[in-house]
Amino acid sequence: PLALLADPTLLRTDALINGEWVAGASRFAVEDPATGLRLADVANTGAADAEQAIAAANAAWPAWKAKPAKERAAILMRWFHLLVQHADDLARIMTAEQGKPLSEARGEVMYGASFIEWFAEEGKRVYGETIPTTDPNKRFIVLKQPIGVCAAITPWNFPIAMITRKVAPALAAGCPVVIKPAEQTPLSALACAELALRAGMPAGVLNILTADADRSIEIGNVLCASDVVRHLSFTGSTEVGRILMRQCAPTIKKLSLELGGNAPFIVFDDADLDSAAEGALISKYRNAGQTCVCANRLYVQAGVYDAFVEKLAAKARAIQVGNGFAPGVNQGPLIDAQAMNKVESHVADALAKGATLVTGGSRAPGALAERFYTPTVLANVTADMLCAREETFGPVAPVFRFDTEADVINLANATEFGLASYFYSRDIGRIFRVAEALETGMVGINTGLISVAEVPFGGVKQSGLGREGSRHGIEDYVEMKYLCIGDV
Ligand code: ADP
Repeated sequence: PLALLADPTLLRTDALINGEWVAGASRFAVEDPATGLRLADVANTGAADAEQAIAAANAAWPAWKAKPAKERAAILMRWFHLLVQHADDLARIMTAEQGKPLSEARGEVMYGASFIEWFAEEGKRVYGETIPTTDPNKRFIVLKQPIGVCAAITPWNFPIAMITRKVAPALAAGCPVVIKPAEQTPLSALACAELALRAGMPAGVLNILTADADRSIEIGNVLCASDVVRHLSFTGSTEVGRILMRQCAPTIKKLSLELGGNAPFIVFDDADLDSAAEGALISKYRNAGQTCVCANRLYVQAGVYDAFVEKLAAKARAIQVGNGFAPGVNQGPLIDAQAMNKVESHVADALAKGATLVTGGSRAPGALAERFYTPTVLANVTADMLCAREETFGPVAPVFRFDTEADVINLANATEFGLASYFYSRDIGRIFRVAEALETGMVGINTGLISVAEVPFGGVKQSGLGREGSRHGIEDYVEMKYLCIGDV
């Protein structure tokens, strides 16, 4: 699939350290999840490379932070335009290594690029403060200064957007970055890095350490232990988030964590059912169910339960599963065999405990069986089933029945996670009550799609720390400095 790139030089397979492409002592294979075929051998960097990247970033810091924000913004805007200009090639690279349908991949390129545009603009508006004095001989001023070298560890489900969402605010604020992309999807990251160099990013300001799963842990150790790295931003599982938080304790590093979710999707009796079914479809099956904000538990009020299940199942049956490059396909493969095991175990567990299979419930037929799972709807799902507690991260919609608003709020909040939630209602009083009662960082109301660069994305409880995107997303990358001027 990568033979067809309009610009083949976007296909980089070496790591980027201090503006140089680095081959690494060994290589690791990147595979196409749809076929299992090897796409490329990529630099497998390790601890020593990580030390070099951190040193390069630190050396590049003084000149980068000294630039007026407007000059950094100009480089970021050139980078943004290059991503947009090369969106088709970037989408092909992404579909090849991640599996999502080409149109979805193109959508992610544009979404990912939008963070660069947004933060190029926001970087110019990192205002300090003057505070009215309480002492006639003193004046109080607050500066905002870049925090220092920033590290980013990112997942495979959004190979570009999860990088730009972290890196763009850091760069805009005046911080150099060291990025460790997911081992499954380094090619998208490297293609973006190539475009960053073309945009004029100075050597050392943006570094990418590619590595396999074992070396990723090794690099993670170095990034966390470093005194020079002042901020770590991570998107991935809650389990790894806990490890990284522990590893960052000795250096009291600032952390942004974007962790697992277990999103409830609630449909009340007064909802527009067609719109709710469409929203559920988008929220559940996008990226084959592999996003942290995917609806994981669908709660439907008793009066509309059967009708909703039927509408959703009809939409699920219409999803075309296949290779993301094939025209008309809107659901690609799962990322790997482990993902398939989790999906199968959740479905088997639900069926064993009395759930009803409405549609799907098996691997796709024929040659697709290894990595593709059919869009599935389960009815009569109950709280004792695995899919009620854990993120399935696959195309399975478990539909629970509820009676009252109070009941469903308790059910929805009965999880250690608190990333996104969704509900459908047309009652304005209920909309405010439920939105305020849900313990999540984000609430989609009468919509299944909530992510854009302009809004604060993030979770409460064990779904993470901090917010990405919006005017708040740059705050983690600056420190306040209070100046007290005496003898005035
Ligand atoms: P997922 O379940 O999405 O694969 P993970 O949390 O396992 O999420 O991985 C997300 C990112 O974290 C990847 O880049 C992966 O290489 C990295 N990672 C996984 N384990 C560790 C670790 N112990 N230390 C540092 N990085 C890690």
